[in-house]
Amino acid sequence: MPNSTFNQITRLVFLLSIGGFFGYQLGSFFVGILFILLIEVISQIYFFNKLTLWLNEGPSSDIPSANNLWSSLMNNLYKVINKLKKEKSQLKANIDYFQESFQVIDDAVIIVNDRNSIVWVNDSSFSIFGINLKEDEGELITNLIRDPDFISYIHSDDFSSSIIIPTVLQKEKRIKIKATKFHKNHILIFASDITETIKLEEMRREFVSNVSHELKTPLTVISGYLEALRDCDVSSSENTSKAISNMIHQSERMDKIIQDLILLSKLENTNLVKEHNFFSIVELIESVVSDLHILDDSKSVEVEYMDQFNNKLNSDDLNGVQIKASYQELRSVFINLAENAFKYSPQNSHLIISLVLDRDLFIVRFKDDGFGFDTKHIPRLTERFYRVDPSRSSERGGTGLGLSIVKHILNNHNATLEIESELGVGSTFSCIFPSEILSDQEKS
Ligand code: ADP
Repeated sequence: MPNSTFNQITRLVFLLSIGGFFGYQLGSFFVGILFILLIEVISQIYFFNKLTLWLNEGPSSDIPSANNLWSSLMNNLYKVINKLKKEKSQLKANIDYFQESFQVIDDAVIIVNDRNSIVWVNDSSFSIFGINLKEDEGELITNLIRDPDFISYIHSDDFSSSIIIPTVLQKEKRIKIKATKFHKNHILIFASDITETIKLEEMRREFVSNVSHELKTPLTVISGYLEALRDCDVSSSENTSKAISNMIHQSERMDKIIQDLILLSKLENTNLVKEHNFFSIVELIESVVSDLHILDDSKSVEVEYMDQFNNKLNSDDLNGVQIKASYQELRSVFINLAENAFKYSPQNSHLIISLVLDRDLFIVRFKDDGFGFDTKHIPRLTERFYRVDPSRSSERGGTGLGLSIVKHILNNHNATLEIESELGVGSTFSCIFPSEILSDQEKS
């Protein structure tokens, strides 16, 4: 039993004994006890009122005088209230700190609750979306940012990627939006103005495209003269002929680079309307194989067709399989991957092209047993001019742009490129298409 309780009980017993004693002296033991109890109840009511008053006034350090029991209760209450006050002010300081840091950034920061009503916005939200906290707190965010892409993004539960939308205030502006869920399904929305970045990217694209077009004409003239020199100048020394054929080889390489750069610029131009038609995938693969520029006769290629359970199919079973895509673009993807498999493999190597028809996916896989490469290169392999081994690439007529083109074309078809490789064992490049590319008949 705590000391204070013991003291209170002792005190009450003592008072009751005194009351009983005097009551007994005056003729009634119980009247004495009742009298003491009555005084005790009145004093408790008195102190209880004092406590209520003190709490109502907002407890200050001037704790009202009271008997032991009540003063220790008020003391303890005062300590708890003080602790809560400190925690509250600390919490407020933290919130102020975060809000202040969100205020100084140029990006718009918007917090909405689980019903998409605005809880808080920073000042930049006004310059980007015309939203301010005073007037718009509690408003539905979808009433203030009415872009259809934004509305479906906010209603979706998938915030793994970002979206780019125009603003209502200035149509030419482009705003990148990334949302994140936090605390009880609230959403934190970051919006940054990327108009300048997009403009710079467009300028870079235009510059590369212009330079490539400008270089094409002089290069054609130079190549023409070099070929004429090679054909006419039969009397020249061995050294001169060697120099001329070397120059022709280099100008052919330059021409290939320029062609690839022009193709990349076209692929990057999202304004161009892409022509997608239905065609037979088996016919496309067969035409790729027959056109393959196999550098060395010792190398071979095999084509296999499979269903979703890896059961082999006959090419006749798939003859009717039609896909809707750009024939020329997919042809260039498959030629690029097949030629790479031969370029980066030793003699007697073997390439297997598999076409896998899954229920949700459709995969075209190129598996070689060539040189392979360390997996650390995979994330950078589709960058322009990235080569695992630059000297081997140029020796074999590579431009360093092939996989970049492949990736762009696949992106334009909502497809992805999956790369696996092991140094000295071989590589596998898989083009993974969504089943939407197949004609309806095939999907069912
Ligand atoms: P390149 O014109 O140099 O072949 P790519 O963009 O097609 O350019 O390929 C980039 C680099 O990836 C190549 O230089 C090569 O190092 C590596 N690579 C591509 N395909 C293969 C493959 N099948 N096996 C090994 N390395 C490959």
